[in-house]
Amino acid sequence: MRILITGGAGFIGSHLCERLIGEGHDVVAMDNFITGSPANLAHVKGSSHFTFIKADISEWCEVEGPLDAVMNLASPASPVGYLDNPIATMRAGSHGTYNALEVARVKHARFLQASTSEVYGDPLEHPQTETYWGNVNCIGVRSVYDEAKRYAEAITMAYRRTYGVQTRIIRIFNTYGPRMALNDGRVVPNFVAQAVRNEPITVYGDGSATRAFCYVSDLVDGMLRLLWSDEVMPVNVGNPNEMTVLEFAQAVHAAGQPGCKSDIVFFQPKADRVADDPQRRKPDITRARTILGWEPKVALDEGLRRTIDYFRTIVH
Ligand code: UDP
Repeated sequence: MRILITGGAGFIGSHLCERLIGEGHDVVAMDNFITGSPANLAHVKGSSHFTFIKADISEWCEVEGPLDAVMNLASPASPVGYLDNPIATMRAGSHGTYNALEVARVKHARFLQASTSEVYGDPLEHPQTETYWGNVNCIGVRSVYDEAKRYAEAITMAYRRTYGVQTRIIRIFNTYGPRMALNDGRVVPNFVAQAVRNEPITVYGDGSATRAFCYVSDLVDGMLRLLWSDEVMPVNVGNPNEMTVLEFAQAVHAAGQPGCKSDIVFFQPKADRVADDPQRRKPDITRARTILGWEPKVALDEGLRRTIDYFRTIVH
């Protein structure tokens, strides 16, 4: 198969490139490095099965030759990433998704849209099932990401209904692992880098917000199962192991032993950084379990150890 991955130099995109090349496929990765990095592709760069195109898919998306699949991951994805790049985020979700869908339509390729648990906003249903329509503040600071991804889902479904494109939609919940950007501001790189540097671990507010963290290899496995399946409705992929942010800080501290001397501190970030911060998040993965036969395998302590090992190589 020959597969285009937009956002291929990002955290998840780079793991997808590696996995697909390892399975013997040809990968074309596209990225403008707004939040991704060339370093993420160092391990696949020399492969004869790998091609890289530096481009902003909001402006342009063209690939020579046949394609069997398009996986559209191009977008800033961390709260700091999208709050610092609001217009680029909206353009990636709207113009970018349109351009990527056009490539899939013209090449008769199947299309997978990387969507997000953020489409549920600050959810009133818990855990979140795919049939929940969400609770998004459409004019809040996070709306640049949430609404762009909701639009991306809408246009993906419209391409399926109008042109018969074989579309798939994955709703990705919090994912972590090696190659997360050190300074992207998310809770995992923040806490892990703080633990590695023996700096205070900064729990925002009272640490009672909940998340559930999925290791990247599990996520990639679910993504590929969905891509090759026949399922056209959105599928949640994430780890349902819900915990408070404070409990997560304690888990990072424990995974950093022996050696981690960080204190866990409560910290008030600037108000716009936490506006509309979802208070509870946990995927209902019944659909992924039954349709894809998927479930997460990597336990949090093991995933955190691997992530800490990676951060030790990049933190100075
Ligand atoms: N958070 C925190 N300390 C940090 C960074 C984030 O307590 O240094 C909290 C944040 O307020 C949120 C949760 O951790 O409740 C997850 O935030 P993240 O930025 O990872 O992304 P989100 O899951 O909101 O997309």
